[in-house]
Order: sequence, then structure tokens, then C-alpha cells
Amino acid sequence: RLIVFEGIEGAGKTTQLQQTHQWLSNQTSEDGTFPTVIVTREPGGTHLGVRIRQLLLEQPDADPIGERAELLLYAADRAAHVAGLIEPHLAVGAIVLCDRYTESTIAYQGYGRGLDLDTIEQLNQIATGGRLSDLTLWLDLDPTEGLNRARERGQLDRMERENLAFHQRVRQGYATLAQTQPDRIVRVEATGTTAEVQGRIQEVLQLKIPH
Ligand code: C5P
Ligand code: MG
Repeated sequence: RLIVFEGIEGAGKTTQLQQTHQWLSNQTSEDGTFPTVIVTREPGGTHLGVRIRQLLLEQPDADPIGERAELLLYAADRAAHVAGLIEPHLAVGAIVLCDRYTESTIAYQGYGRGLDLDTIEQLNQIATGGRLSDLTLWLDLDPTEGLNRARERGQLDRMERENLAFHQRVRQGYATLAQTQPDRIVRVEATGTTAEVQGRIQEVLQLKIPH
């Protein structure tokens, strides 16, 4: 199964993904064995992806990549990731927990930057061969709060590349996705303590992913 964590910066995706990894790894399956759970992320889940991530995140502001090139780099990262890591692990029955996936591109490049949503859908299709998440947990947090958390972590520079309105559009994108595909994309309230959010995630997983 492919379980994806989505949301704006500061929402707690990476932390919650690690804790979910711990929890799921200790849940016995019906046959009494423990599942194989792996953690990965986009961009940057493969060797190529790590290099693409550097290109995307370390580009100097004075020489912007351009939105179409950016879109294609995310797609290239995803294509390599699905073929090289995600599909092979799913094929042997692992649970794959992924920090960002197709919905990030829809939310950021589509709703955030205003690129054509049909084009993005097509690119996602090409990059993934049609593989969607089995479940996407959208950690929903007000962008102002996300900004505060990013500041505390010293990652504000990354967040400040875009303005608040951008992150509000991204959030709206996630909200629209969750409304239109409620069975697959589930909103999780991301305010409160790490433990509270983890509790909400485990509730959703117990409901959606029987093991
Ligand atoms: O560590 P994290 O994956 O959250 O950081 C990735 C960075 O790339 C963030 O700054 C995020 O805003 C950005 N991003 C983006 N479009 C995507 C995925 C990530 O702009 N499709
Ligand atoms: Mg993160």
C-alpha cells in the first residue's frame, strides 16, 4: 500500500511520517507477521531525486528556474521514484510511506502557481503510470501557523520564498482535492501536539487500512 503525507510546510509531515512508521512497523498483520514499512519522500527519494531536489531547492533567487521547468523537474523526480523505488517495494507487499506525491504538484504548481491543472494531471499520469496513493493524509494547518513552526525550525527562508497568499492557495488546492476525492484524500487537523496529531492519523489508518 502507498500512503502519502501531504500539507504545507510546517504542517508536520516528516515528523508524523516517522512516528507512523514506528507505529505501523509494530502492528502485526493477520498472519501474525510484522509488515515491511518503508519511508521515502519527494522530491529526493532516489539518487537522481536527491540531485533534482538540490537543483530545485538550491537555485539562486536571482536566477529562477521558471515554472514549467520546475514542473518538469518534479515530474522527472517522480518518474524515477515510482519506477525505481515505489513500485518495486509495493510489488513485494511493503507499505510505502511517502512525504509528498502527486497531490503536491496539483496543490503547489497548479493551485499555488496557477499552471494548467489538466496538464499537471497528464504529467502525473506519465510520471506514475497511473499509480495513485491508496490513501493520502492531508495534514491541514493554517499557513500563518506553518510559518511560525518553520521559523522555529530555522527553515523560514524556504517558506519565505513564497508569500502567504501562495500558501493559502496551496491549502485551498488540498481542500478541493479532499472534497472531490474524499475516500482517498483525508483531511487531518494538524494543530495541537505531535501526539495529538499522531492519534488522529492512527484513527484514520485503522479505519481506512485494515491490517
Ligand atoms: O521538505 P519539503 O519536502 O517539505 O520541502 C520541499 C520544498 O519544495 C518546499 O519548499 C515546498 O514548498 C516545495 N515544493 C513545491 N512544489 C512541490 C513540492 C514541493 O514547491 N510540488
Ligand atoms: Mg518536511
